[in-house]
Amino acid sequence: MDIPKYVYSFGNGAAEGDASRKNLLGGKGANLAEMSRLGLPVPAGFTITTGCCTDYFAAGGNLPPSLYGEVEAALGRTEEIMGKKFGDPENPLLLSSRSGARSSMPGMMETVLNVGLASSTIPGLIARTKNERFVYDGYRRLIMMYSDVVMEKAEGIEPAEGQGIRVQLDRMMEEVKKSAGCKVDTELTAGDLKKLCEGFKVRVREVLGKEFPDDPREQLWGSIGAVFKSWNGRRAVSYRRIEGIPDDWGTAVNVQSMVFGNMGDNSATGVAFTRNPATGENKFYGEWLVNAQGEDVVAGIRTPNPLNRETKNEQNMHLKSLEEAMPEVYRQLDEIRHRLESHYRDMQDIEFTIEDGKLYMLQCRSGKRTGTAALDMALDMLKEGLISETEAVMRIEPVQLDELLHPIIDPEAEKKVQPVAKGLPAGPGGARGVIAFTAADAVSLTKAGKNVILVREETNPEDVEGMRAAKGILTARGGMTSHAALVARGWGKCCIVGAGMIHVDAKLRQMVIGDRTFREGDELTLNGTRGYVYAGELSMIDATENPRFREFMKIVDRSRTMGVRANADTAEDARIARSFGAEGIGLLRTEHMFYGAGADEPLFLLRKMILSKTTAERRAALDELFPYVKKDIKATMEAMEGLPVTVRLLDPPLHEFVPQSEEKQEELARSLGITKEDIRRRGEELHEANPMMGHRGVRLGITYPETTEMQVRAIFEAAAELLQEGKGAKPEIMVPVTCDVRELEVTKKIVDRIHSETMQKFNRKDLAYQYGTMIEIPRAALLADRMATVAEFFSFGTNDLTQMGFGFSRDDIGGFMEEYLKQGILDADPFQTIDQDGIGQLIEMSTERGRKTRAGLKVGICGEQGGDPASVEFCFKAGLDYVSCSPYRVPIARIAAAQAAIKAKGGK
Ligand code: ADP
Ligand code: MG
Ligand code: MG
Repeated sequence: MDIPKYVYSFGNGAAEGDASRKNLLGGKGANLAEMSRLGLPVPAGFTITTGCCTDYFAAGGNLPPSLYGEVEAALGRTEEIMGKKFGDPENPLLLSSRSGARSSMPGMMETVLNVGLASSTIPGLIARTKNERFVYDGYRRLIMMYSDVVMEKAEGIEPAEGQGIRVQLDRMMEEVKKSAGCKVDTELTAGDLKKLCEGFKVRVREVLGKEFPDDPREQLWGSIGAVFKSWNGRRAVSYRRIEGIPDDWGTAVNVQSMVFGNMGDNSATGVAFTRNPATGENKFYGEWLVNAQGEDVVAGIRTPNPLNRETKNEQNMHLKSLEEAMPEVYRQLDEIRHRLESHYRDMQDIEFTIEDGKLYMLQCRSGKRTGTAALDMALDMLKEGLISETEAVMRIEPVQLDELLHPIIDPEAEKKVQPVAKGLPAGPGGARGVIAFTAADAVSLTKAGKNVILVREETNPEDVEGMRAAKGILTARGGMTSHAALVARGWGKCCIVGAGMIHVDAKLRQMVIGDRTFREGDELTLNGTRGYVYAGELSMIDATENPRFREFMKIVDRSRTMGVRANADTAEDARIARSFGAEGIGLLRTEHMFYGAGADEPLFLLRKMILSKTTAERRAALDELFPYVKKDIKATMEAMEGLPVTVRLLDPPLHEFVPQSEEKQEELARSLGITKEDIRRRGEELHEANPMMGHRGVRLGITYPETTEMQVRAIFEAAAELLQEGKGAKPEIMVPVTCDVRELEVTKKIVDRIHSETMQKFNRKDLAYQYGTMIEIPRAALLADRMATVAEFFSFGTNDLTQMGFGFSRDDIGGFMEEYLKQGILDADPFQTIDQDGIGQLIEMSTERGRKTRAGLKVGICGEQGGDPASVEFCFKAGLDYVSCSPYRVPIARIAAAQAAIKAKGGK
């Protein structure tokens, strides 16, 4: 077996690796190599590969034997470049040992600085630098980091909260500062620091039962092993879970010559972004600290100075910028900024250190950015000629668009506070307002001009009004596909569900979180994009109506080939969908008119229809219902301005609509001329053991053809009237819950009959329509070739297809889904992202079979997953004609579809 090469050197304007080798060298290592090749001032060093990390774990925590020789050789090269020797008593080289995985995991793994300081090297370094203070500052840092990272964490020691060695040493340093009367660490003298180091070593021995190693090579190998181990540290593991980073990637270790920002007032360290990562503005943005090292800037030890004029703000106004303090170094840094941007053609996040007036580059990577910044930067870089149109499209993560479509909490305000509770991020954006504990309260408080946050144990369809009125919704129970979540997403409403730590008592009108009690009228702020709940009202920023957003979406659409429609039930939803660029409605649910505002009358008539005993009774009720249905459909079709509108025939189980209240029952009895007892009995007869698989969908039309007739007539007359008015109308009739082509045949006869009747009535030959079916029962998917003999289009109802394909009741996954995900039995919740392995096969197979029967078969998807970027990409690959999703997710689906097309052509 070949022994792999484990070590790659960099420095002195050259490198063995380069930016393309992130998988092997980790992001940090690959970019250090790249910067070195560019001739930027990178301190020399070498990278130990991620492969070595994997082998290290595979060998039960033992380093591969060949590594030792490779490291010694690479260390020799580094020493030569730096003109110093590691462990040398006269002129010692110090090293850092830095973690760095394929994709950046900021702050999740460990780094040790100043490796190589020991009793054998300290005197020599003091003599050479003539700076005793600097040397002991470095030494105390080494002891702090090493004891924490190598001696404690890597050894798997888990001290109680506040008892970790790092915290203990920090406290000791605070005490010394206090007794010396210093405000900041830079005021400590060489003597203070020297004493502190002695104290540190004693404490390390007491707490960890081991000596702090006084041998440079022992320190080096100790820190290399510890960095590998930090890949499996608790923080790193949970971050990987959240971000979906595979466990087997491993981290690289970068061993690099130290440069010192803590050598005095002509030294400094800093971090910067080549553009503003919050706003996207093409302005150099950063912070720095004089006489400091490593993490000092981000750790908030002192308020960092602004990099330049553009970076000044309230807190750092009084501090000198680098531009002012070291103009020549700033000029060099600014030049490097431009070189890096034009080289990487993206915004970079950089780390630099200034050692006695000389600038060094320690890291660069593509910087994380807000959605707004991502969009602005992509457009700017396109205009600057830095990137192409397709690259601009690829620069934005589809979910980042969420931020641009909803008001959000001002990120600056959010940084300053801690959430009081966390739940599932069910509906995006931010919301703030006063708490209401019932739907009715939410409505009345809203009427009184308040912004309301509706807080419920869980929500049910009767809360719909309150949910509509509220600015945000918070529930203690429920998952991402719970009713509340679904509704909220559909409306683009901020919503957090399943916040288990809140206890809601609607009767007492209060909510308890830990030892805090919140009452009606108390203020709350929700971050629905992250699932965070805050006490009080945080400030918000409005990100919609952004003209650059519209400009960007035009560019997106130029790369897109698959259609994007919306699931919209009302004219209002349809208008929103249009404004977000929907090219039609993929799912219009007629039952929606029986919920919410204005539903009283139609709901009453529907109930009358349901509780009818005879066909005559039923027909009478349907006749009364007809004008409502027609009006609703017509308004929605009109809002879609002649684009195709897929109307699904009545789908839900009827018993959902049976009236429960005495008063409603009485009213119905009177209207039907029967007794209340009759009503109750008829309602009971409708009861089903498993309504999800019961008398619903097409089955209603098979047993009561007059219901189909009424709906189809409403659709055709609505379309005909629009045509009469000189407007467009493209109705598509969709039959739900089918499992056999004969269901489609029976229904089609009714549709054809009503169609010709309507054409006659309106005397219009141009009343065109399409007839198709949902594919949501596995049997229908299996028999797709037959279904397509009658259906002109398929629409995958992936909610039910997933539900029936998995045998998971969507309303009951709360009990086990979390465990399935935690144990890795499923990689993702299949109700949120299409299960490509299983359910995906049904989609691919039936698309193929359907099109074999009917070449022009139009195929789309209308499940919740239609707005999920990974699912959109899957649909593209499966050859679907369109995806349909909730109106607010239309832009996300548009960009996801464009990116899928670009990727298919080999673009990145
Ligand atoms: P992280 O990935 O958490 O940012 P790094 O490996 O980048 O960790 O190191 C932490 C800090 O130490 C950074 O501020 C970095 O610039 C600094 N640092 C790392 N190596 C050196 C070095 N050789 N000389 C000076 N500073 C260094
Ligand atoms: Mg770093
Ligand atoms: Mg369905």
